[in-house]
Amino acid sequence: MNYREKLRDKKRVVVKIGSSSITHPGTGAINLTKLEILVRELCDLKNMGKDVILVSSGAIAVGRQTIGFHHRPKSVAEKQACAAIGQAQLMMIYQKLFREYGHQAAQVLMTKDTMTDNLSRRNASNTFEELMTLGAIPIVNENDTVSTYEIQFGDNDTLSAIVAALVGADMLLLLSDIDGLYTDDPKQNKDAEFIDLVEVLDDRLMKMGKGAGSDVGTGGMATKLSAARIATASGADMVIANGDDFHVIHKIIQGADIGTLFVGKPNEDFYLIDILEEVY
Ligand code: GLU
Repeated sequence: MNYREKLRDKKRVVVKIGSSSITHPGTGAINLTKLEILVRELCDLKNMGKDVILVSSGAIAVGRQTIGFHHRPKSVAEKQACAAIGQAQLMMIYQKLFREYGHQAAQVLMTKDTMTDNLSRRNASNTFEELMTLGAIPIVNENDTVSTYEIQFGDNDTLSAIVAALVGADMLLLLSDIDGLYTDDPKQNKDAEFIDLVEVLDDRLMKMGKGAGSDVGTGGMATKLSAARIATASGADMVIANGDDFHVIHKIIQGADIGTLFVGKPNEDFYLIDILEEVY
């Protein structure tokens, strides 16, 4: 059985979507059609008996649009206000859509402190386990409304990898506006080659993390590679794929050769706390 086929047997899957994947590029408004497909895909993973955790960006992007900002919010207070509005709105829509397919969404907001403080981390872990036991689908985001620079994860790529490690996920799927890993930035170099499988994430590959993020999200390739390092070291396989069409979720789980697969290397010496110290 090859690496791709093994994805079928994954039991606990974390899916991360970027802001650009759930908003319309022209207006910045929420893309309801895409959100509906995303929720249906995730509910079907649940129906297959898998545990599903969604890490969803979009609080700031959705809030910014709702409040009528034409610019990207700059000050911390502006971002926090946008997040407060957008996060609530996003969750309202998620709750509604998940209920339509007979599933229950649950909101989990975290800051870096949640992970670095031993007690908070244990509490978060217990809550995730209980939600999973109850069959709910945790929807995770950074608690942007209260997090300032000192306590920020900063980007949801890193957050999703840390969550995957915390809950002992065996797969992390990052969906964004890029197809996966290339040997160079494909927008600048037409000879850049696509890499569909990474068995060993060495320094040479880490350096390929070029290419900026989009106007709405925060993560570029570098944050995705750093997420890959955390996720694979914790033992999870990670796939980066384009979230332009969320139908790729079931295709990837069925073993289709889409995006870049980073093979998990379960490491007995993996301690989340060491990784956190390294990342922060
Ligand atoms: N937490 C931010 C939001 O929900 C997004 C961060 C990111 O996309 O990396 O708006």
